[in-house]
Amino acid sequence: MVEERIKFEECGVCHRKEKDGIHLYHLFICQSCERKMIETNPEDASYTYFVNKLKQINKRKQYS
Ligand SMILES: [Zn+2]
Repeated sequence: MVEERIKFEECGVCHRKEKDGIHLYHLFICQSCERKMIETNPEDASYTYFVNKLKQINKRKQYS
């Protein structure tokens, strides 16, 4: 079955299992979160949330 070949990955931001998204470092970000990141203004509180998420990725990468 074709469906079995589709790889669902857990989004590193919202933790939902999605098949469409981007990879940032080794973190998977689903399409809706990616869109949110693009649309978010730096003045928004959620922007800080995303930035912190990305900082965590960098930190984790250094240790591994
Ligand atoms: Zn997501």
